[in-house]
Amino acid sequence: YAPDQVKQQQLDEVDSLDGEIKLGGIRKIKFTQNDIIFNKKKKLPYHPNGIKFYAYVNDKEVATRMYYSIGGGFVVTESNAKKNKVKTSKRKLTNEFSCAEELFTIAENRNLKISDVVLENEKCFRKEKTTKTELRRIWRIMQECVDRGLTTQGMLPGKINVERRAGIMYENFLKNNELDNQAFLDYSSICAIAVNEENAAMNRVVTAPTNGASGIIPATMMYINEYISDKPKNWEIKFLLTAGVIAMLYKMNASLSGSEVGCQGEVGVACSMAAGALTELVGGTLKQVENAAEIAMEHHLGLTCDPIGGYVQIPCIERNAIGVGKAINASRMAMLNDADTKISLDDVIKTMKATGEDMKSAYKETSLGGLAVNVTEC
Ligand code: SF4
Repeated sequence: YAPDQVKQQQLDEVDSLDGEIKLGGIRKIKFTQNDIIFNKKKKLPYHPNGIKFYAYVNDKEVATRMYYSIGGGFVVTESNAKKNKVKTSKRKLTNEFSCAEELFTIAENRNLKISDVVLENEKCFRKEKTTKTELRRIWRIMQECVDRGLTTQGMLPGKINVERRAGIMYENFLKNNELDNQAFLDYSSICAIAVNEENAAMNRVVTAPTNGASGIIPATMMYINEYISDKPKNWEIKFLLTAGVIAMLYKMNASLSGSEVGCQGEVGVACSMAAGALTELVGGTLKQVENAAEIAMEHHLGLTCDPIGGYVQIPCIERNAIGVGKAINASRMAMLNDADTKISLDDVIKTMKATGEDMKSAYKETSLGGLAVNVTEC
């Protein structure tokens, strides 16, 4: 089950675990959902999101392993978590950068767009054609996810009784959208809700940059697809390349993890990625791309993570809908002005990290503060 290859149907099969699984697809062992213990009180040593596996032979423990999910889809072993190390390639890239200023300077000096700079780097790993094929596949999986979310109704799993809304909202939208010049906002919000309801239902989503914030990038792309008529050729590839590198800047210099820096590192980063990538697509200059990404994060600074009952449902689902609106807004604001701004993208990334470090742990995915303790779970 490689995460990027797993099919929705295979996830449905896992849902109906019948008491055994095949390790590595080969050796059958006894396993039920009750064998997974959520220990909310105990934190593993190197990161708040950790999992420990125990292997038993004849009821005797024979091995243990710890892994940590450190945000942005990165899963590291215990020893790498201890060294604070993500396994990365040692390959020399065409365009080396470690912060936004360096990235934008490369693009400016070579008269390239941000997506061109990233595509050149990706060629160090695989053929350009393969990168493009894979990015189109990601876009296709995102669209499938939106479609499933728009056509599924009913209750989401979990104890807080949240009902899916995207399907009914979409039906109402289709009845009223023709004469409404704000329809783009409704459409993009509904698409974000559709994706995040799929995530809450533990169905297949594309991590962008996390699962909790996975609605903003596809919803922005659905908006572009539907409402922007003069898109450049291969727009979906350019969009994902630019959005991806903005996430990398946050990963390198701050965090993509709600449990480390609060929701500013999830929904805030997704919004920044979407705003920057959208701005490049609509013809923004390098400065405007940077400004859009900066504006989008600046107004998420301090955003806490306080999911009710620990479920990625409230406030997460609706927050993605608001996030896509903010991304479009940030991009449009940036497009109206090409002047230098007082705050650079690097400044806001640094500030996000410092704000996250100052945030009490009650507001970092522990469900011990905010909405999680002020709203009755029912
Ligand atoms: S509130 Fe927390 S769990 Fe929900 S999207 Fe934000 S960071 Fe993720």
